[in-house]
Amino acid sequence: MPTTDYDPGSLPDLLPLYYKRLFPFSQYFRWLNYGGVTKNYFQNREFSFTLKDDIYVRYQSFSNQSEMEKEIQKMNPYKIDIGAVYSHRPNQHNTIKSGVFQALEKELVFDIDMTDYDDVRRCCSAADICSKCWTLMTIAIRILDRALREDFGFRHLMWVFSGRRGVHCWVCDEAARKLSAAGRSAVAEYLSLIRGGEDTVKKVQLSDPVHPFIKESLKVIEQRFEKYALVEQDILGSKESTDKVLALVPDEVRKELVAFFLIERNPVVRWKKLTAAVQVMATAKRGFYGDKEIMLQYCYPRLDVNVSKGVNHLLKSPFSVHPKTGRISVPIDLKAIDKFDPFDVPTISLICEELDRPKTAEEKGEATAIQTENNGEQRKVRDYKRTSLAKYVKLFDQFVEEMEQCRKGELLRKSGESELVLGSSACPYTDKPPPGESELVLGSSACPYTDKPPLGKTPLC
Ligand SMILES: [Zn+2]
Repeated sequence: MPTTDYDPGSLPDLLPLYYKRLFPFSQYFRWLNYGGVTKNYFQNREFSFTLKDDIYVRYQSFSNQSEMEKEIQKMNPYKIDIGAVYSHRPNQHNTIKSGVFQALEKELVFDIDMTDYDDVRRCCSAADICSKCWTLMTIAIRILDRALREDFGFRHLMWVFSGRRGVHCWVCDEAARKLSAAGRSAVAEYLSLIRGGEDTVKKVQLSDPVHPFIKESLKVIEQRFEKYALVEQDILGSKESTDKVLALVPDEVRKELVAFFLIERNPVVRWKKLTAAVQVMATAKRGFYGDKEIMLQYCYPRLDVNVSKGVNHLLKSPFSVHPKTGRISVPIDLKAIDKFDPFDVPTISLICEELDRPKTAEEKGEATAIQTENNGEQRKVRDYKRTSLAKYVKLFDQFVEEMEQCRKGELLRKSGESELVLGSSACPYTDKPPPGESELVLGSSACPYTDKPPLGKTPLC
């Protein structure tokens, strides 16, 4: 559905319906509660609301899911941001001595905004995006997701469409949430390649040997460069855009290419010539990566590193609405990342309208069955399921579920480890060898040989 179907003026009327019947509070709470890892983990989390007329309210916090629901339904925020987990409840920060109230933990987050690519995209500028330049976001997700998983070992990454012109990544692993500001900076710097602002002509300089991370990133770009950059963006098409590319190669190569481009118009052939010309240089002068540097300058992810570096930096929440486009910030399915179309993401007006549609016979049957269960939460579940939001909530649910499973597995592994370690040595009372596997279950109860209770906290047999 095109954005034109959404009228920003209708937002105050739609938000109460959205927060009352569609916002996935249950999964949202489960996510941010992280299984109650530490005391007050959810309670000490900062939320901030943007209300009508850009009134910005920081340091909101809630005791539990029900309080959060009530508060959000009362205030109907135009936008919700998520901040850090603090040392104290954020809504009481005024009552705490200054310096004591501190941001302790937060997901490691990344913010990629299409406006940062304005010097290298020809189809749109500023807040506008189209299916052509969206490829840049797909490339960014692929490169960063691989690096965060393979190079850093993170597992719980949630990619979210910002609602307008970019994507966010929430790295939710415990190790990521506990990162210090210095640790976050280090990760952000590792992932940053584009240097210099508007005045810097050449923004990427590779040195020999090329870091394996850059090699991996280049693989992602190389697969898409011809279609995206040469054909769709036509970066070697007009004189102006060709000059911008030529400004990135050494003088001697440039002269040769200018002459060649006079007779050859096909951008793919032009690029082949450029690659061949710089490769000649590469043999004469080891470590010259002119063509790779151009590819990276045009396609490598451009991170807003300040968002990633600060523990207390706020970032727009998943399932918040973008007030200008009306689109919901939805999770992106990595398995179908090439198919993700930002223009397919439902607007608040669409899903509210879908809710108003007459129920099908099947839905009516379900509703009756659920009402007999007398469970308000279940009724809400059915509501979003009747809208285009359903598949995104499902993705979110899967993400939370996987994290919970991992946590359970980790806990089991840890308890299993302590039993196994101890189980493999002899019983301290009898010097008998450890019991067989089936007896390991008894680890926490008495010694199977002597019937003596386990020593202290640690099971010994
Ligand atoms: Zn575009």
